[in-house]
Amino acid sequence: MSEIFESIIGESTLSGFPALFVRFAGCNLRCAWCDTAYAYEPAYFSSSRQLYEKVKASRQKFVLFTGGEPLLQSGLPDLINEIASGCGKKVILETNGSVGIENVNPGVHISMDCKPPSSREHQKCLFGNFEILKRTDDVKFVVEDRNDYEYSRRMIDAYDLEKRVNVVFQTVHGKLDAARLAEWIVEDARPVRLNLQLHKYIGVK
Ligand code: SF4
Repeated sequence: MSEIFESIIGESTLSGFPALFVRFAGCNLRCAWCDTAYAYEPAYFSSSRQLYEKVKASRQKFVLFTGGEPLLQSGLPDLINEIASGCGKKVILETNGSVGIENVNPGVHISMDCKPPSSREHQKCLFGNFEILKRTDDVKFVVEDRNDYEYSRRMIDAYDLEKRVNVVFQTVHGKLDAARLAEWIVEDARPVRLNLQLHKYIGVK
């Protein structure tokens, strides 16, 4: 584990809801602009049972699994199933897009990254995951510059993402002006959303 805390969901189409955040340690990628490198190494160990009890005891209705990369935890699908059926919580899973999602409970809201070239990890994307995502799930493009934006547009077209999922755009914080990204989106008139990292703008974790 890296950390567990309560906060406001800052990314995805569920942005703005309060949630319990469960951050797993370890990541198989090394994005050039990673803002959670502290999660590469574990801060402490928790068994699935301990984690389940903690989630169950939480007052929050949403529980958001993030990382690092949560799907590297072999017991995660079972834990999610147990939480979904035994706790009555809505589970959100943030994944970096490089690990298969076929074992994830269909009741989970998935927010999958599609890494652009500036991350230097874009070749690790498992595009087959797009076939598994539900219409209510999100594919998130975090872009640093125009080259990333154009790459994202090509991926959206190649996999018909606008019809399959919610497409969400976000800037690499501090690298690209969100107003500039908004201009590009408006110019293209596509059914995609600009997503600001709400937690960073209001100064919470
Ligand atoms: S996938 Fe996320 S945690 Fe992993 S290196 Fe990239 S930004 Fe960092």
